[in-house]
Amino acid sequence: MTRTTTTMRAAIFRSFGGPIEIEEVDRPIIDEEEEEEDANSVILQVMATGVCRSDWHAYKGHDSDVIEHGFPFCPGHEFSGIVVEKGRHVQKLRLGDRVAVPFIVSCGSCTYCHSGSSTVCLHQKQPGFTQWGSFAEYIKLPRADRNLRVLPSNVSFVQAAALGCRFTTAFRAVMQQGKFLEEMELLQSQQRNNTKIGNTKTKISVGIFGCGGLGLACIMMIVAAVQQQQKQQQEIQQQRGSICPSTLVQIIAVDVSSQALKKSQELGATHTVLASIDPNEQAQVRDQVKALTDDGHGLDLSIDAAGFSATCENAVHCTRPQGRMIQVGLPIDTHSRPPLVPMGIVAGKELQLVGSHGFASSDLPELLQWVSDGLVDPAQLVERHVSLEEGAQAIQDMDHGSPLGITVVTDFQKPSTNGPVTSKL
Ligand SMILES: [Zn+2]
Ligand SMILES: [Zn+2]
Repeated sequence: MTRTTTTMRAAIFRSFGGPIEIEEVDRPIIDEEEEEEDANSVILQVMATGVCRSDWHAYKGHDSDVIEHGFPFCPGHEFSGIVVEKGRHVQKLRLGDRVAVPFIVSCGSCTYCHSGSSTVCLHQKQPGFTQWGSFAEYIKLPRADRNLRVLPSNVSFVQAAALGCRFTTAFRAVMQQGKFLEEMELLQSQQRNNTKIGNTKTKISVGIFGCGGLGLACIMMIVAAVQQQQKQQQEIQQQRGSICPSTLVQIIAVDVSSQALKKSQELGATHTVLASIDPNEQAQVRDQVKALTDDGHGLDLSIDAAGFSATCENAVHCTRPQGRMIQVGLPIDTHSRPPLVPMGIVAGKELQLVGSHGFASSDLPELLQWVSDGLVDPAQLVERHVSLEEGAQAIQDMDHGSPLGITVVTDFQKPSTNGPVTSKL
């Protein structure tokens, strides 16, 4: 195979569960005469792309979009890169811009986009699912002005790729759907207004069920939100001279892996519960979680960050009356059975069950600012920088379980024959 500038290296699979191989394929181009959409598209040189379990689902044939797209297919949806080509209608982005994009590329014209709810856009595109993804040297992205965001200069390509779906999804689950800040403010105003200390809750309890990449990112988001709020309150106190009560937040991490729990603690979980995989022992898991909460009534906010039937059911059962449960882990068909949600408990305890899906590109600047300010560092979860070959292998290796940290592809070049690939980022 001869290498030309019109081709690129990409990780390709041609059957579900078959080999993912590095091939020399046509490089995407902006062709506005052929493709009307290209006037609003850009080509990115991919600088970093994360390996995620959703890539494995795409590869195994669990995703209807990939099935509909057909073969050959290139996975990858958590990435950052440099704008190297753009269509004539692209105004906000310039060649050479360092950018990131949430995995939901929204249309901007449907009823949901108009009302600011682009995470449920009717015509959303998802690189690595509805179109070829980022396990390649280059990727073409439509609707670029609307969806891509320029990285602050102190945010690296690896940090931006690691933000990927985990951190963006965690941000929405905790801050937007979980209304974590509102929860903190409510408790603080109760504390201010209630002098009878004995009757007032003193802590907010959050439970994270499933501490893989997404669950760990949720923990980091909660810690970041608390830090940010404390910073703001210090400023208010200095200005007004008034004392704001500091909120105690309890983060209870629940997982079947003691290694995952250890990592949870390192990242800020205040308590851990080692869960059993035995279906008959789930009641004990729930009792343990509830016993850790302020008054034993359960969690103010519980998050299923894994999507297993046990994580979902335990999250619902552990939520306190009028508490909120967020379903952000995506239950998939391959699990033994779908979750059984106890609707009697949902009604009787007036629980709020709320779904959370992805993240809107309009919120990306806020999250990138958190990274830029050092409130949250996605690179803390990055365990390995690898080559495209190793990244393709990492997806296939998920047949045998998930690695704890994030693997990021940072080297897209042909491996040198002189030795192992070293990362440049
Ligand atoms: Zn839309
Ligand atoms: Zn992902």
